[in-house]
Amino acid sequence: MSGADPIILERMRPTWVDIDVDVWRSNLRATRDRLPAGTDLVPVLKADGYGHGAVELARAAHAEGVRLIAVALLEEALEIRFAVPALDVLVFGPLDSQDTALAIEANLVLGITGPERLAIAIESMRRSGKSPRIHLKLDSGMNRMGVTPDELPQVIELLKSNDRLSLVGLYTHYATADDPEHPAFEMQRQRFAQMRSVLADAGITPPVVHSANSAATWRGAFEPGDLVRAGLLLLGAEVTVTPGSRLQPVLRWRTAIARLKTIAAGESVGYDHTWRAERESRIATLPVGYADGFSRQLSNRGAVLIGGRRAPVVGRVSMDLVTVDVTDLPSAALGDEVVLLGRQGDDEISAEEIARLTGTIPYEVFCAISSRVPRIWREGNQRRLGSRFSGYFTTDTSD
Ligand SMILES: *Cc1c(COP(=O)(O)O)cnc(C)c1O
Repeated sequence: MSGADPIILERMRPTWVDIDVDVWRSNLRATRDRLPAGTDLVPVLKADGYGHGAVELARAAHAEGVRLIAVALLEEALEIRFAVPALDVLVFGPLDSQDTALAIEANLVLGITGPERLAIAIESMRRSGKSPRIHLKLDSGMNRMGVTPDELPQVIELLKSNDRLSLVGLYTHYATADDPEHPAFEMQRQRFAQMRSVLADAGITPPVVHSANSAATWRGAFEPGDLVRAGLLLLGAEVTVTPGSRLQPVLRWRTAIARLKTIAAGESVGYDHTWRAERESRIATLPVGYADGFSRQLSNRGAVLIGGRRAPVVGRVSMDLVTVDVTDLPSAALGDEVVLLGRQGDDEISAEEIARLTGTIPYEVFCAISSRVPRIWREGNQRRLGSRFSGYFTTDTSD
């Protein structure tokens, strides 16, 4: 290829995800409108905004007046830092000492997940001469990340002996916020309050406190004046075990019929011949597979929408292809739009439905949609395409 011009792909595969940025923005506004005065929303955009495009959503958040967003990894934080410099970014971490130095250099807000990370931050601060903004995570009972009650004396000592350290926030994370009946939620609230009062007795009272995720935010389970952190809620998926706890879905995943054939009764379809036609059947083949995030668990279980009606998945989901039975949809034709996730006509395949069928949660359904699937972000009359094959460019189109 040396010396040759690169080939710019002006086409896109017929399998893509549409992300309605206007809907995300309206979910964000609806969420903020429900919050009491003094409480603000921190959109959580880790894992590329749960597959919805972190940079695009960060830009939209900034346009809505959001000041702080949160991600998990240093690279996620840096991506947003450089794309939307005016937005503050909290990185949950944990970060090692090299990453901590980079995070301080980039003026990120550091999530500190334990005493050893606090010691690293202090060391980095000494070396760089800078005072990073720090949010300290307290473990109120999830027993995963965060400072435990036993570690508080050690943390207090570290904080007291480093007065240039800028501890601006305390936070915790709930294990059971999506289940209003679960007793662990109240237990965690109490432990968080106890740990904060131990810190307060030592004179440590940072101005910012946050604990609520999407489910707790939806239920109003936070103190006025706290920040709330929400990811899934803004995407329009169910956030509690109670049906009806969702805003407008943001994402729609579609493909198109790539092959149509009629097979005789008794013929079988796909790897391992797991589905056999009881009658003469019309089979549509779709150019999407488990490599795109269409779970193999949907083999002989899932359904797709064609012309607003359901067509069942028949046979095994392959890496690049899925077969569906369209015998009862006689008008289905080559090239017809097929919806894998989202609304078409009067029906909808929700992330919850796919999650139920595949034994997981909507979070994983979204995160599974792989980078092989192009994203189109729609905002006003703008359409922006993101594809790992064609780079990233902006087009104005009427559609
Ligand atoms: C992912 C995450 C969130 C957001 O959770 P949602 O249920 O999507 O709102 C909040 N806080 C922390 C620490 C997280 O890791």
